[in-house]
Amino acid sequence: MQKTALITGASRGLGLQTSQELHKRGYQVILGVRSNDAGAKAVQTVGGNTQFVVIDVAESESIFAAAEQVGQRISQLDVLVNNAGIYPDEGVSILDSTREQFHETFETNTFGPLVVVQAFLPLLRKSPAARVVNISSGYGQLGGLSADVPSYCLSKLALNGVTLMLADKLRSERIAVNSVCPGWVRTDMGGANATRSIEEGAAGIVWLAAEAPHELTGKFFRDGAEIEW
Ligand code: NAP
Repeated sequence: MQKTALITGASRGLGLQTSQELHKRGYQVILGVRSNDAGAKAVQTVGGNTQFVVIDVAESESIFAAAEQVGQRISQLDVLVNNAGIYPDEGVSILDSTREQFHETFETNTFGPLVVVQAFLPLLRKSPAARVVNISSGYGQLGGLSADVPSYCLSKLALNGVTLMLADKLRSERIAVNSVCPGWVRTDMGGANATRSIEEGAAGIVWLAAEAPHELTGKFFRDGAEIEW
């Protein structure tokens, strides 16, 4: 049976690249995008029998509507990549950060992935060995927190907490949940000076989504190697 994968934030950057790689590996890929136009464009880029679904991870209603639509198209979800993210406050001191900014960033980077897992759980449970891959960051490591990238760092630190708690809760159901840092990657988010190509950044995500031993769960990886929280 063809394996299935849903990738959020698949319109561009690491999400689009990961979608292309999983498609090449034979997965039926569903691209999570924020508009029909973005979906049509991304489907063309990936090709094959790729489909898209509109999903805004900052809105629970959008997430549950997407889960219902996807449930009408596939009978099980083998891979869920929580990739959608925002990076809104580089250069803002923690001393000047606002409650509103933390709220906005957490809605997308932290609560989004959690609610996506909750909404797609019925489909993940139908896979014999499902995997959830949360795209985190070295900025979310305890040793990597920057006081000048405040809401992003804390949102990824908390996302890693979500990974640990979901892994614990879902281990007995054979659903692996891990975090991965792609490194500093030349996307719209990472900028032109980043040290890695999109292909290099996506490689560790694809490994965790498709190749890593399934018993690995509740861990944080970069380049296929475990790293510290
Ligand atoms: P990107 O090029 O800026 O792409 C971000 C993606 O997230 C876009 O597809 C965007 O969709 C989507 N998105 C943003 N808010 C969303 C929402 N509320 N609902 C659904 N989709 C939303 O970023 P990237 O570099 O590929 O980053 C992907 C992931 O890797 C992020 O989680 C990021 O934190 C992580 N990461 C990146 C780097 C890096 O150096 N690039 C380093 C560490 C971690 P639209 O096109 O609709 O805006």
